[in-house]
Amino acid sequence: MIARRTILTRLVLVVCSAIITGTAVAAEDEPRQVLFTNVNIFNGTDEKLTEGGSVLVEGNLIKAVSADAIEAPAAEVIDGGGRTLTPGFIETHAHLMLMGPSLSAMESGATWEDFGIHATRMAEMYLMQGFTTVRDAGGANGGLRRAIDARQIVGPRYYPSGAFLGTRGGHADFAAYTSPPGESTNFSRLNMAQEVSGVDDVYKYGRNNFRMGATQLKFMQSGGVVSAFDPWQLLAGSQEEIEAAVQVANEYGSYVMAHSYRKEAIMNALNAGVKTIEHGFSFDCEISKLMKEKGAYITTNLTAFDPGLLDIPAVKNQPSSLAKAKSASATFENYIPNMKKCPVPRGFQTDCVGSVEACNIQVAYEKHLNNEFFGPYQSMVTLTSVGGEIAALSGDFTNPYTEGKLGVIEEGAYADILLLDGNPLEDFSVVGTGDQWFGADPRPESPDTIRMIMKDGVIYKNTVN
Ligand SMILES: [Zn+2]
Repeated sequence: MIARRTILTRLVLVVCSAIITGTAVAAEDEPRQVLFTNVNIFNGTDEKLTEGGSVLVEGNLIKAVSADAIEAPAAEVIDGGGRTLTPGFIETHAHLMLMGPSLSAMESGATWEDFGIHATRMAEMYLMQGFTTVRDAGGANGGLRRAIDARQIVGPRYYPSGAFLGTRGGHADFAAYTSPPGESTNFSRLNMAQEVSGVDDVYKYGRNNFRMGATQLKFMQSGGVVSAFDPWQLLAGSQEEIEAAVQVANEYGSYVMAHSYRKEAIMNALNAGVKTIEHGFSFDCEISKLMKEKGAYITTNLTAFDPGLLDIPAVKNQPSSLAKAKSASATFENYIPNMKKCPVPRGFQTDCVGSVEACNIQVAYEKHLNNEFFGPYQSMVTLTSVGGEIAALSGDFTNPYTEGKLGVIEEGAYADILLLDGNPLEDFSVVGTGDQWFGADPRPESPDTIRMIMKDGVIYKNTVN
């Protein structure tokens, strides 16, 4: 057994050595130190960079941050050459398992291998685009995280939600059209989506999600645009069912994220104790006030406001989806002015379902839209410290990563660090944006301007030195 494990470990090291550099093993009682010198530091919250600073990493944590030199004679030194050092980015709403091209195709023609292989590639894509943490908003259990954290595969820190919890005919109902209520489906067998009917189902499947490795629960409270059975205005789930989800999450010290579009849905969710509103397109100042009272967050995929949305094939070719998209666009047009008028902490979310190549483009485009709508500083906060706060909502004993904070550069935080060519507060494109969505050219595996990617103290990319 021991011999086999050694061989496996060697194999993994050989496979990973192409991308993992600087992993020299230090003596066991002396954790490895890496010292970044000559860097302008964006700490995740402040608009002003610390110019010409230094950051010392010890093991997997940040040990010191200074505007001056740091004395660390044993450290491996990386001269930042005046580049910007930022926290690793945080995606707060992805679906790494869902490869598309449609929900019905995944329901009828995909096995666990298809999902797992796709998710493995997605995880690597996200890390190489600068995301050191990803929260998964439904369809994934604990296996991918275990493989990433054991460094069997390359990927970000990972917060899965287990199966989507949703009502019959709601946004998590991926069953075939003639499938009777409650019948087993591909998605239910793999615990990727579960139909809940009543609080007992919420208890049963909610607890099962945590058993399967979820770090928070996802409740489908509104409908969608590119989905089969559900109007986007749907008010799915009784107040008792949503409260039951919150109760189960609280048993695990964690929280519920709710897919909510319509104002009534959002208010109901917040009053039930939901901590993150997903999409939240009907956001207004009254919602903002309640969110602040409740200490809640919003994450919104800004591609929903893209004027080209009505031209995408999944919408254009399906009359019911096109009609839904038109009414949704009309209702959602106040989101951006309202968010500027009554801002709340907003997480970065892409919500891509599809091929790795398509999602790579969509992630870059979502970065671009953040800057277009909210400017570089707000976008950087969204990409870093807000995501860190959202990740921490999973609590002291369910959160897999409790040694340090995420999304910030400060003493004691996790060593999740990027080095960027240039200042993103002046030229946001250095974070790896793409200004085209459909019809865009394929994206590189990793943007040239992201010169170094460190996660948990391990360097996954280094083109600096
Ligand atoms: Zn989603």
